[in-house]
Amino acid sequence: MIPQTDRPGADPIDPQIAPQIEPSWQAQLRDAVRSGAELCQLLELRPQQVALSAQAAQQFPVQVPRAFVGLMAKRDPADPLLLQVLNSALEDRHQDGYGPDPLDEAAYNPLPGLLHKYPGRALLIVSGKCAIHCRYCFRRHFPYAANNPGRQNWQPALDYLAADSSLHEVIFSGGDPLSAPDTQLRWLCERLEQIPHLQRLRIHTRLPVVIPQRIDAALLAWLTATRLQIQMVLHINHPNEISPALARALQRLRAIGPCLNQSVLLAGVNDDLDTLANLQERAYAAGVLPYYLFCLDRVQGAAHYAVPRHRALELVRGLRQRLPGYLVPRLAIEEAGQQSKTLLG
Ligand SMILES: *Cc1c(COP(=O)(O)O)cnc(C)c1O
Ligand code: SF4
Repeated sequence: MIPQTDRPGADPIDPQIAPQIEPSWQAQLRDAVRSGAELCQLLELRPQQVALSAQAAQQFPVQVPRAFVGLMAKRDPADPLLLQVLNSALEDRHQDGYGPDPLDEAAYNPLPGLLHKYPGRALLIVSGKCAIHCRYCFRRHFPYAANNPGRQNWQPALDYLAADSSLHEVIFSGGDPLSAPDTQLRWLCERLEQIPHLQRLRIHTRLPVVIPQRIDAALLAWLTATRLQIQMVLHINHPNEISPALARALQRLRAIGPCLNQSVLLAGVNDDLDTLANLQERAYAAGVLPYYLFCLDRVQGAAHYAVPRHRALELVRGLRQRLPGYLVPRLAIEEAGQQSKTLLG
């Protein structure tokens, strides 16, 4: 680009179009909206339009980065992004079959920070924190405090990974692994590189979706330097989540290869054919291929997001008719005690 001053007779830079200095991702994280009441105020919603639950917010606090709030429509209590994050009174309803640990993860948590459930790959709980609190999250009751190893405390998990040569992939999970600082992630990645049978590092994250500035130079530096093959899996549920800022961030991520996306099928958010088809097409336009479309895990407080199984199957049949095969996500459910996710349809 030609600097303004090199153009004879150029007008002074208009402050309206001059590039804004973007706050760092850490600053955006600190500055997140942390109450349902503030969220409603920002969106110009009247208290009688939304039934908030203080109890739900106490169990799982509200947290939404402001950039994500900026993608919501004002004065619309049914906005599909808002419905994912607002502490609704519906969460207080008890429903049979919904519990605090629907996937029986406690049974596969042999060491702090390590979940080993499926052959060939193991998952590390790299951070208990997330940038956004999704009300349907199946780990909303997860004992993160017991799974937060510091540097010294990672050694048992690293020894476990080194001792099992059938493991070829490690998954950084959480919480959101990208809520951890890059120094820590790079340190852990370097420890994994020293384990010869590990080939791949997968990163499951929603953070860049809600704070696209997370894809910065420090992250790209260690992602591109490692000998491990990196697979990024994003978590986008609705096409409105794909902002221009996210598209720019994904452009930067292309340096490490194609990203995948997994979504959760959520009543009132994305349980219609147009929304799901748009999501796949807009994600692909930003360089992201579909991976899973999950049926809701039966976690306490999330029953109002459930979509009946027959409806989920019907939606995926509809996608198959409308989209090329590579844009149809795999409809899946996670069942406690199985050796892999269970594919449906
Ligand atoms: C979902 C999950 C994985 C990854 O499964 P893929 O089908 O390979 O995506 C690995 N470990 C645990 C504990 C999981 O929940
Ligand atoms: S970002 Fe992921 S782990 Fe965090 S609350 Fe949302 S769904 Fe759960």
